[in-house]
Amino acid sequence: MAMKINADMCTSCGDCEPECPTASISVKKGLYVISASGCTECEGDYDKPQCVKVCPIKGCITQVAA
Ligand code: SF4
Ligand code: SF4
Repeated sequence: MAMKINADMCTSCGDCEPECPTASISVKKGLYVISASGCTECEGDYDKPQCVKVCPIKGCITQVAA
């Protein structure tokens, strides 16, 4: 499973990018995106997804539907 950034809500503040333990967040054409293949939902590193924890916009980062 992985998380995804809702582009409509993201303000491109950049807060999430340095917090990711697997370096799965990057900027593509000015938009912050999460690599679904790289994102571990922080399992093994943290109790909760760190990107969700630091993102100031509630609901901006959500789980990719299975
Ligand atoms: S859930 Fe964790 S591993 Fe996945 S993008 Fe967010 S910070 Fe990175
Ligand atoms: S912390 Fe949230 S609003 Fe800021 S760049 Fe990341 S996803 Fe977008």
